[in-house]
Amino acid sequence: MSASKPAGLQDILPLSPLQEGLYFLSTFDEPAAVDVYSVQQILDLTGPLDADRLRAAAAALLDRHPNLRAAFRPRKTGEPVQLIPAKVTQAWTFADLTGVSPAEAEVERIAAEDRGRRFDLGKPPLLRWTLVRLADNAHRLVMTGHHILLDGWSAPLLVRDLLALYAGTPLPAPRPYRDYLAWLTAQDRATGRAAWRQALDGVTEPTLVAPADPTRRPVVPAVVGTHLDAGTTAAVTALTRRLGVTLNTVVQAAWALLVGGLTGRDDVVFGATVSGRPAQLTGVEDMVGLFINTLPVRVRVRRDDTWTSLLDRVQREQAALLDHQYLSLAEIQRQAGIGALFDTLTVFESYPLDEEGIAAGQGASGLRLAAVTGHDATHYPLTLTVVPDMSLTFGLEYRPDLFTAETAAGILDRLTALLRALATDPSARLSTVDLLLPGERAGLARWNSTAHPVAAASVVDVFLERVAASPDVPAVVFGSQSLTYNELADRVDVLARRLVGMGAGPERVVAVVLPRSMDSVVAWLAVLRAGAVYLPVDVDLPADRIAFMLADADAAVVLRSVPTSGDVPLVELPVVSSRQAAYVLYTSGSTGKPKGVVVEHGAVVNFFEHHRREIFERLTDNRIRVGLSAALSFDTSWEGVLWLLAGHELHLFDDETRRDPALLAGYVARNGIDFLDVTPSLADRLVAEGLLDNPPAILALGGEAAGSALWTAVRDADNVTGVNLYGPTEATVDTLMAWIGDSATPLVGRPIANTRAHVLDGALRQVPVGVAGELYIAGTPLARGYLGRPGLTAERFVADPFGGPGGRMYRTGDVVRWTAGGSLEYVGRSDDQVKIRGFRIEL
Ligand code: AMP
Ligand code: MG
Repeated sequence: MSASKPAGLQDILPLSPLQEGLYFLSTFDEPAAVDVYSVQQILDLTGPLDADRLRAAAAALLDRHPNLRAAFRPRKTGEPVQLIPAKVTQAWTFADLTGVSPAEAEVERIAAEDRGRRFDLGKPPLLRWTLVRLADNAHRLVMTGHHILLDGWSAPLLVRDLLALYAGTPLPAPRPYRDYLAWLTAQDRATGRAAWRQALDGVTEPTLVAPADPTRRPVVPAVVGTHLDAGTTAAVTALTRRLGVTLNTVVQAAWALLVGGLTGRDDVVFGATVSGRPAQLTGVEDMVGLFINTLPVRVRVRRDDTWTSLLDRVQREQAALLDHQYLSLAEIQRQAGIGALFDTLTVFESYPLDEEGIAAGQGASGLRLAAVTGHDATHYPLTLTVVPDMSLTFGLEYRPDLFTAETAAGILDRLTALLRALATDPSARLSTVDLLLPGERAGLARWNSTAHPVAAASVVDVFLERVAASPDVPAVVFGSQSLTYNELADRVDVLARRLVGMGAGPERVVAVVLPRSMDSVVAWLAVLRAGAVYLPVDVDLPADRIAFMLADADAAVVLRSVPTSGDVPLVELPVVSSRQAAYVLYTSGSTGKPKGVVVEHGAVVNFFEHHRREIFERLTDNRIRVGLSAALSFDTSWEGVLWLLAGHELHLFDDETRRDPALLAGYVARNGIDFLDVTPSLADRLVAEGLLDNPPAILALGGEAAGSALWTAVRDADNVTGVNLYGPTEATVDTLMAWIGDSATPLVGRPIANTRAHVLDGALRQVPVGVAGELYIAGTPLARGYLGRPGLTAERFVADPFGGPGGRMYRTGDVVRWTAGGSLEYVGRSDDQVKIRGFRIEL
């Protein structure tokens, strides 16, 4: 290695694992970006000070520790080496602030500027000094270095050496850093790799608190801090003794639960900074250099784990890796084979703050070290630092571009809450320990307090009331045809009698297999009027699919055309109750075979009353024109019928119009349609056709996630109020609603009346605000279940642990999170279900 050592070069050395990591990070970094790997310590020195002598002492430090003179350069192969020159020019600046006021601010400015000045790893020294004189007996020494030279453990050693060199106190010769590098080279890497492969076996996904973003640049982190009270600290410490685990293990287990909770995972990986000082190397604790390493900690939380079983396992698993901490993170990650494994880090700070040693070294020089303040840095989204003391101290460094101070503080609060829970009952099952803070639990309950009285009525009651209230105004328009409420009611009445004559009745299914027409609306209401269960069937579906539905639903009547002649049976039409089934809708869902969702009248009426109150009446006093574009076999088509029931004029678009965005946009403009409910994908195409130049007064989106471009376009457009409606068929059309004008980014909103939304993790625990979890819906809108499929129904409609006894909640498969304002944001699906033009498809 030293064969071609140029003159003036004392040594050529390999890099330690973390040096390698830092070296590669620095090569990815754009030169202009801040260098978060500049570390800084500011020494507050009191007493008489000889500036030249201090400067000479700092220079002597570089002589004493050759590795502090290192430069880092690539070989021709690209592999980096550290070059140790025999001498380097000391980087020393002096600033006299005597008489400057305010001096403190000026020191801070000098220090900040120094931190901001990037080191070029190829140009040593990577350590520089600024001595600031504030007054005769008051100085600050700003020491700024690149992290690649030294770790946090080394910093106090360096301070001790510096003060001793200044005082002329003799120091024993240090063990050189190259001894450690030699030790590293001698390790059996194959064994180390095998140990890590085993430790990470089965990790299939990284644990990320922030979405992976390869373009993300390092920033200076912000920090929040907290203490665990002394009583809890003592209890936790006593527990560690009793269980034979370290405090580090306790913090790591708690962090695993916390990060698992924040990411919805029970197989959690995070990073830990280890001291990396091998016990086999005598004198290692007095060596200066970069020894620390960042290693993955993998913690699997099992369903039946208690605190004690988890602590025990974490302790054992980590102990098994103690001898293998010298591999670089990159090499360890290669063993797992999925790239970066984590984006949070824990640092257990137990530096040798050797105050006595420092005091002894200062000798009789008269100079005193009054305080040390430091600046450290990280590029991880979250870094937890732990300082063990009578009262455990936690710091959380966070990237301010990814987290707010409030969120960061909330994370620390949850951590201390977890440790308090541990101290209170170490035998508790972890499935009962959630991450909610007391205020949060109340907030979630408040956002779900949606109770509102609703009439025990059926859709038929609402329809008959409406006909009585406005008999002679237009109710439905289809192409050139139109019917008033009275005309519609007459047709409905005739067809309903015929249906009863054919065998329709309560809880009996009538399949409507009609081309989209005026008759579709008549048949829809007639089935309900007959007290039967409405099953809309799309005539365009393959014959075998239609046959399957008719058989599966055991249809009592199949209506393929509406009779126009013949006797009308003189039967009495039934009274329809709110507990009767109103419709059955087939959806492909996520289990392959189509399944019929059975919805009762009461759920439809609840949804109707909510929308009448919160949308119709809020937006208009007038009768308006409402366009219905959805397929009638899609539950969102109820949206149109509701407006009709509320007294507005329903325009049922024909197939040609609803399938052609240009025709549709033209119809809306020409006929003065005031309300339009479409999927975001159709809305995108309508916007391209100029819909927003002459928009409906109300534009409702629903059926799939709205993109932010569309959201912004609707929000910014004049003369249109946008609303986003979310809901699975299993919970009656719409269960969540968000006004587009209320938020700059897409939201699915808040639960409608008598509806509760729960965002839960895999153990059905509520997740904190801002954390993604699966959406479960409870309350009045829940469907009865899947027709004739009790097993499937029990799988998706589960017991509601937050409601009264016997209550159920529907597992949507949608991943959402609460915003701080109590609205829900859509994140994605937890399964393979996709939506194509609003239709559910299982991949
Ligand atoms: P469906 O049963 O056909 O109404 O489909 C319900 C599914 O469509 C939901 O579970 C969501 O995955 C998706 N969905 C419906 N409305 C929205 C919306 N406004 N935003 C995002 N996804 C939606
Ligand atoms: Mg829906």
